[in-house]
Amino acid sequence: MKRVALLGATGSIGRQAIEIIDASPELELVAVAAGRRGNEARAIASKRRVAHVSVGGDPPLDALVEACAPDVVLNAVVGFAGLPATLAALEAGIDLALANKESLVAAGDLALAALERGGGRILPVDSEHSALFQCLEGRSAQSVDALVLTASGGPFRGRTAEDLADVTAGDALAHPTWSMGPKITIDSATLMNKGLELIEAHFLFGIQYERIEVVVHPTSIVHSLVRFRDGASLAHLGYPDMRVPISYALTYPDRAATPIPPLDLQAGLTLEFERPDEETFPCLRLAREAGRTGGAAPCVLNAANEIAVAAFLDGALPFPGIPEVVERTLAAAEAPRARDLADLIEIDAAARSAAGAVARELAAVSP
Ligand code: NAD
Ligand code: MG
Repeated sequence: MKRVALLGATGSIGRQAIEIIDASPELELVAVAAGRRGNEARAIASKRRVAHVSVGGDPPLDALVEACAPDVVLNAVVGFAGLPATLAALEAGIDLALANKESLVAAGDLALAALERGGGRILPVDSEHSALFQCLEGRSAQSVDALVLTASGGPFRGRTAEDLADVTAGDALAHPTWSMGPKITIDSATLMNKGLELIEAHFLFGIQYERIEVVVHPTSIVHSLVRFRDGASLAHLGYPDMRVPISYALTYPDRAATPIPPLDLQAGLTLEFERPDEETFPCLRLAREAGRTGGAAPCVLNAANEIAVAAFLDGALPFPGIPEVVERTLAAAEAPRARDLADLIEIDAAARSAAGAVARELAAVSP
C-alpha cells in the first residue's frame, strides 16, 4: 500500500489523480490540499476518511507533508506556491511525483541539493518528462545524444505575430489536444510551457541545454523522445491523457492498468513534426536564455510569467504583452544565486513587483 499526499487536489491534475487513486487498491489518500474551493477539498477528504487537510495554506503545505508522513507526495499545485512542498518532500526523502514544474524551474539548484540530502526520488508527472524518464531508464547520460521535447504548438500554431495582437483569454484557453488548468493552458499558447519544460528537463535529467531540443508535434501522440549516440531514438507514444503519467508516477516501478484505450495503429496515426516558431512565440527563447544564465534567472522568468499570465487572464494585458513583461523583467533583474529558500522568496517577490509594473505600463498604452 502506498500512502499518497495530494496537493492541488481540486485542480485538473488533482481530480485525475483522485480517479487513479480511487481505482487502485494499492494507493491510499492520506492528505489533501487546495488553494481555494475549501468545501470541495474537505468533501474529497471526508469521503475517503482523510485526516490531513490544508486549504489556502492552512496548515502550510510543508507542515502538512511532515504531519502525514506519506510514501509519495503528488505536487499538483500551480505556480511558485508549490515550492515549499517540493522542498519539504525532497528534504525528507519522500518520493515526489512532480506536476508542479514551476518549483523545479524556480528552485532547481535548491531542489537538487535537497534531493541529494534526502535521498528520495523525483518521479515526473509532466507527460514529456514522464516519457523521457521512461525512455532513459537504466541508460547512462553519456549514451544520450539529445532529449527531444514535443510540443503541441497550442491553439495559435501557424499564426503570425500580427494575428496574435488581439486574441482573447477565451481564444487562448481553447487548447487543441490537452484539457488543463488555465495557467498552463495559457503557457501552452505562448510556448512558455515548453520553455519551463526545457528547464525542468535540464534539472531532472542533468542534461545541458545544448542537448535539449523542442519540436512541434500537433497531435501530441509522441510525448517526447531520446536520441542516443548510436543513432537509435526511443519515443514514448500514447493518446494525450494525463492519467497515464499520473498513474505511472504513483505506481512506479509498477505499471498499473488504467482506463485509457490502447493506441489503435489500425485506425491510422499521423505523426508530423515541425520547427517551433520562436519569432512569433518568444517565450521559448526567453526560457532557454534564462536557463543558460542560471542562478536565479529561471526564478525571475517564472515569477514574471505568472504575473503576466494572470494579467492576461484578467483582460488587463494583451497576449503579446506576456513575453514582453517577461523579457523586460529579466533584462532589469539582477539575478544572484539564491543560497536558500528565503533568498529565493525575496527574488521571486521582487520579480513579481517589477513584472506588475511593466504589465501596468503596457496595459496603459494598449487600446
Ligand atoms: P489547476 O489550476 O487546475 O489546479 C491547481 C491546484 O492547485 C488547485 O487544486 C488549487 O486549489 C491548488 N493551489 C493553487 N494555489 C495553491 C496554494 N497556494 N496552496 C495550495 N494549493 C494551491 O492546475 P493544473 O492544470 O492541475 O496544474 C497543476 C500543476 O501541474 C501546474 O504546475 C502545471 O504546470 C502542472 N501540469 C499540469 C498538466 C495538466 O494537464 N493540467 C500537465 C502537466 C503539468
Ligand atoms: Mg507537459
